[in-house]
Amino acid sequence: MEMLIDSHAHLAMYEAGDERESILRHAEEAGVTTILTIGTTVEDSRMNLEIAAQHPQVLTSIGVHPHDVKEVDLDQCLEALRQLSLSSSVVALGEIGLDYYWNNSPQEMQQAFFRKQLELAKTLDLPVIIHDRDAHKDTLRIIEEVDVSSVGGVFHCFSGDLAMAERVRELGFLVSIAGPVTFKKAGELPRIAKMLPLESLLIETDCPYLAPVPFRGKRNEPAYVRYTAEKIAEIRGVSLEEIAKQTSLNFFRLFQKGNTLQQG
Ligand SMILES: [Zn+2]
Ligand SMILES: [Zn+2]
Repeated sequence: MEMLIDSHAHLAMYEAGDERESILRHAEEAGVTTILTIGTTVEDSRMNLEIAAQHPQVLTSIGVHPHDVKEVDLDQCLEALRQLSLSSSVVALGEIGLDYYWNNSPQEMQQAFFRKQLELAKTLDLPVIIHDRDAHKDTLRIIEEVDVSSVGGVFHCFSGDLAMAERVRELGFLVSIAGPVTFKKAGELPRIAKMLPLESLLIETDCPYLAPVPFRGKRNEPAYVRYTAEKIAEIRGVSLEEIAKQTSLNFFRLFQKGNTLQQG
């Protein structure tokens, strides 16, 4: 069976105990050998670290999501993230970025948190995981201003057009494809999944959200990353094995610390 990696999951959002253990078991049964679980707040990041401490196949990312920035103090967050970054399972900073679709937090505040966390990632030498919804212009502008080319990163659950995907690639970032590529109305995603070099792609679930077809609308889980990988293989006319192998190589090229950790 092809070995797959879910590069973006929110494991802390499942109930501790039976629910979380069963989705981790399903992932293993589906050949998902590595899961990167993503923090959205300091507290959520801390919970993810605890999950990773009990599960060697789980790596973590720490960060404050643009939805949540209005509740917290920027300097306190940066200090807390700096502390959390010392944990051995941390391979990235994120998810960070801008969300002008929901606008749960004021845009100036989102931008301030985004910029400061990008700077922190450079200081800590960690790649970044970018959340960008309806904020392409400002997201690209801030990334270029801070210049994170020394650490690199990924645009998760990519939602831009092909021209933007090319721009993201020129900036040295990877493009991560999530479940919506399997939807009937997938927009530009199938074209992006076809046209970008395979070396630039990651795959993810963003679970528990965004379940791919045939589970659309249901609770998502890391095991379902297989459906997204199968769809990309079909679009590109290559084997699932090739997609699995190259996206895994891409993952460990970006999250190099994860490579050392998983090889023990
Ligand atoms: Zn996101
Ligand atoms: Zn997410």
